[in-house]
Amino acid sequence: MILEVTNLKKYFPVAKTFIERLFSREEKFVKAVDGISFTIDKGEIFSLVGESGSGKTTTGKLVLRLIDPTDGKIVFDGTDITYLKGEELRKLRRYMQIIYQDPYASLNPRMKVGEAIMDPLIIHDLASRDEAKSMVYEMLEKVGLTPPEYFYNVYPRNLSGGQRQRVVIARAMITKPKFVVADEPVSMIDVSLRASILDLMLKFREELNLSYLFITHDLAVAKYISDKIAIMYLGKIVEMGPTAEIFRNPLHPYTKALLSAIPVPSPRKKKERIKLVGEIPSAIDIPSGCRFHTRCPNKMKRCEAEEPELIKVSKEHFVACHIYSV
Ligand code: SF4
Repeated sequence: MILEVTNLKKYFPVAKTFIERLFSREEKFVKAVDGISFTIDKGEIFSLVGESGSGKTTTGKLVLRLIDPTDGKIVFDGTDITYLKGEELRKLRRYMQIIYQDPYASLNPRMKVGEAIMDPLIIHDLASRDEAKSMVYEMLEKVGLTPPEYFYNVYPRNLSGGQRQRVVIARAMITKPKFVVADEPVSMIDVSLRASILDLMLKFREELNLSYLFITHDLAVAKYISDKIAIMYLGKIVEMGPTAEIFRNPLHPYTKALLSAIPVPSPRKKKERIKLVGEIPSAIDIPSGCRFHTRCPNKMKRCEAEEPELIKVSKEHFVACHIYSV
């Protein structure tokens, strides 16, 4: 196992206005992640899927320890990193990398591509400059940016979105990480290029026995790349299981609604779309009981009062919904 997350929480305090400070002592929090548990095996691709505001990105930052958790436990490759700091955390960083959504914002415009990819090798003292240069050439070839002599010396502004994301992937892979958080890595890339970027990520999984936490709002992308999927809603995991099982037998009404929104290639295979009413509620003011009850087409009386627990329904399939609780 590469990652074990137990009851992880992240609450951000909300700044009060002057009037609110005068009339109320009660602190308010954005409960971005509200008690989630999951594990990722070595070489596994685990996707977190949900609308924006569900807590996916915060989870990614927490497990990489880019932000501090409010509560819970994070174990990376056998080491409890929940409160790790300073040099000990810095040493682990080469094994934990991130690929951001926006390839335009994640590269320094003043750094040539070769220097950007080389940077982590120098920061972590993994190679001399000459060694690093030949490692970068090799990496440029691996990610399909050839001839490497040309791409080494160009600036990000001279590249397309797809090429920039290849540079970002190259920079993440140059330290031979064990675990990568990929936060919507293809959502800003032209649709025609998405599969090739996902295939590149799969190639590195094979080569490095790499594990990914893959964050996406798009179930079709999650289906293509993942071994397991967890569906998140308002800071909680509401359903989790092997990808094939989630697609074959979705249980949670939210999962069913997300699945019904995936376009089908053949017009003869028409399926009915489950339309959810309203937007995802604010994480400052989470609905009582089941947090999905304000939008759920299957809501029952108990749903407003009782919060369903994530229960096991078969070997690796979990769901949090009163329909399945006894
Ligand atoms: Fe819907 Fe109730 Fe299940 Fe929540 S617990 S998803 S409101 S049926």
